[in-house]
Amino acid sequence: MNELPRRPLGRTGLNVSILSLGAGPLGNVYGDIDTQTGIRAVHAALEHGINFVDTSPYYGKTLSETRLGEALKGKRDQMIVATKGGRYDLAEFDFSPARLRRSVEESLTRLQTDYIDLYQLHDIEFVLRQGIIDQSLPTLEKLRAEGKIRFIGISGYPLLLLQEVAAAFPVDTILSYCHYNLFNTTLAQQLMPFARQRGMGLINASTLHMGVLTDQGAPPWHPAPDTIHATGQKVAALARDHGTTITRLALQFALQNEHISTTLVGMATEEEVAHNVALVGNPPDETLLRAVQAIIEPLKDISWQSGRPENFEPQAVPQRSV
Ligand code: NAD
Repeated sequence: MNELPRRPLGRTGLNVSILSLGAGPLGNVYGDIDTQTGIRAVHAALEHGINFVDTSPYYGKTLSETRLGEALKGKRDQMIVATKGGRYDLAEFDFSPARLRRSVEESLTRLQTDYIDLYQLHDIEFVLRQGIIDQSLPTLEKLRAEGKIRFIGISGYPLLLLQEVAAAFPVDTILSYCHYNLFNTTLAQQLMPFARQRGMGLINASTLHMGVLTDQGAPPWHPAPDTIHATGQKVAALARDHGTTITRLALQFALQNEHISTTLVGMATEEEVAHNVALVGNPPDETLLRAVQAIIEPLKDISWQSGRPENFEPQAVPQRSV
């Protein structure tokens, strides 16, 4: 087994590999993959020293959890497993105590385990925050006391909301996405100092900006404005001209930040796992990084509207219509 560097996940006592496995692709979120390919990606992650995986019943309408459960048969104790509840489809949300209880039981069955290491409320910006604070998080505390889940967290897009909810009801971890990568680094100013001060684990997701920073580009459901996708393709071409890939540069950039407990990357194949693991500890090419940052600069730190209007980030732009 490889020795990937690890960092504490807040005050949980868990040490997580600084690069971790996003299981969105296991649910065919980025295009169809066959089950065996996905399972091999999970096994490759373990062999390379990745010990943290994140999934959700939302990813592929439970497919991701089911495949992950298959992949972890006989290997459950080698992986710290995070899943979520509250979001079940594009527009299906239910963070009520009864649904969360049922959701945990369903996830335990699909994941073929009797405990979940980290249980997160998925995309909390879509519902009233007071319900999250007064009902959903206390329900997770009860489930923790019952031994079904070990730690609790929240996930979502608007940084201020994540911070305000975590200030009102302390959680073990916060999962933020698309706010610390080549297109957006606002996490460093807005949530990171808070998480550090409170000792909460910070999980950074979508360092490839949900596929924008790849040669193949993002899937059609991606909410960012068209200009961001066009610029993604432009910087991808520049990286190719330099004999490398934008994915490589984007991951190297994000992995450098020491205040992030772990960087979740969606990986669909064992080749992607091997490629990405090899980047850990290798700093980005500074000349190429500066050239890419100069191209991105006019579009830097743009965020899009997500969830209920009162939870939008200031200056967030409407989502691209598909
Ligand atoms: P990402 O930015 O990690 O991009 C994933 C895409 O990049 C996939 O298509 C993958 O196949 C591809 N890719 C990965 N490595 C590659 C390589 N070396 N070469 C070419 N392509 C490569 O986006 P993501 O998967 O959405 O984010 C990572 C994980 O974070 C998710 O799987 C999920 O677990 C988590 N996440 C959570 C939330 C939330 O809770 N609200 C939101 C976003 C992401």
